[in-house]
Amino acid sequence: MIMKTRMIPDGKANLKKLPVYYHENAEYLYYPITNARCPEGETCVIDGQHVKVGELIGTRKAAFFEQPIHSTVSGKIIAHEKRHDEFGKLVNYVIIKNDMQYTMHESIVDRSEEEIAALTKADFVEITKDMGLVGLGGSGFPTYIKLNTNKPIDVVVANGVECEPYLISDYELMMNEPHWVIKGLIYTMRSSGAKKGVIAIKKKYRDIKVVIDFALKEYPDYDIEVVMVGNHYPSGWELETVKGAIGKKIPQFELTANHGVLIFNVSTLATIFKAVKHRMPLLQRFFTISGNGIENVSFRVRVGTRIKDLVDIAGGYKDPAIPKVLVLGGPMMGTNTPSDDVVITNTTTSLIVFNNEEYFEEPCIHCAACVYSCPVKIEPVQIMNALKDGDMEALELLNVNKCIECGLCSFVCPSKIHLTDYMRQSKQELREVQNASNR
Ligand code: SF4
Ligand code: SF4
Repeated sequence: MIMKTRMIPDGKANLKKLPVYYHENAEYLYYPITNARCPEGETCVIDGQHVKVGELIGTRKAAFFEQPIHSTVSGKIIAHEKRHDEFGKLVNYVIIKNDMQYTMHESIVDRSEEEIAALTKADFVEITKDMGLVGLGGSGFPTYIKLNTNKPIDVVVANGVECEPYLISDYELMMNEPHWVIKGLIYTMRSSGAKKGVIAIKKKYRDIKVVIDFALKEYPDYDIEVVMVGNHYPSGWELETVKGAIGKKIPQFELTANHGVLIFNVSTLATIFKAVKHRMPLLQRFFTISGNGIENVSFRVRVGTRIKDLVDIAGGYKDPAIPKVLVLGGPMMGTNTPSDDVVITNTTTSLIVFNNEEYFEEPCIHCAACVYSCPVKIEPVQIMNALKDGDMEALELLNVNKCIECGLCSFVCPSKIHLTDYMRQSKQELREVQNASNR
């Protein structure tokens, strides 16, 4: 039987009932100076120096952009040291001992409504650049680059779909702070000249619609509406969200701005609001610990907090004799991480702890479920076979680069084949071959 599906259990119902545990006073905060997008970086502080909340402590550097890094507490720089990141790679960190005073840096001063009304597009771009804002829906793409489009924009879409199972940080944000999202959306509409704003959420989350519709009554001058999109996975993939929210089909690899659309994750919009209104970088975020290997807890924490400390607060792992699988992010697109001794960054949403129930891949039964379920209409099983044969030409012809690593093919495969891993590996090997031939 072919299992064709885009509907997957999301495991969120119980998580959404959890009260939020505020843990914003970690004793030590850790800031990686590089990350996956920015392989270079430098600090501008020295050991022993006192810093304030929101103070610049370094800069991450990529080929075409830089991302400032800010302290999220006040306190003393106690070390620059190498530690492992979530991929197990050694990277440079700055470590701050929290003085628990939360003294704000002098630059963090609210803008008046008159000042905000006078901001130009160039100002919005500059603000988001200086605050180091990046896409919080998982992309980590610099916000200022998106805002800096010279294309005419008709509509800005706020992506609140959060389709990955077990993730509820956007949900918590929309339920607790809808005005941050709405104001961030208004700022991006003003910056881009868009007349229309759309907040996209899943059909089944009527509770969010009630909260946002109520909050929207305070903004009668703006044409903003909540649109319910499909419950299927991956309805939160940018192009799928745009299609569901405004009915526009944008081809893969094309910029949405070329079609008059900007799309931002709702958490990103909240950071834009804070940056514009309060001149504040991202200091805190919602973070969830879930899975069957640990007591589930929904946190609000400072960026730089060690996840290991949150695991301890959650009571440690259940059934310590059973080995655990740790996933940062969602179970479909998240990253397996070798250790919980990693830190919350701007883009960290969740840790899922699974009891490792061992199972083995079985041979492919040629059911084609992976092919029928793939949202970008490529053929995972054929790609896997081409990879195993080392056939790079076939990988290219099979369009492996269209893969968005959504995880659906692995999910539906009755033989439990980790197809998404094969897709990642295929893309990587193809990239290496193409880079070598371009040299
Ligand atoms: S992981 Fe890639 S190949 Fe697999 S279903 Fe998603 S897009 Fe298709
Ligand atoms: S790889 Fe899995 S889902 Fe795809 S055809 Fe084979 S058995 Fe079916």
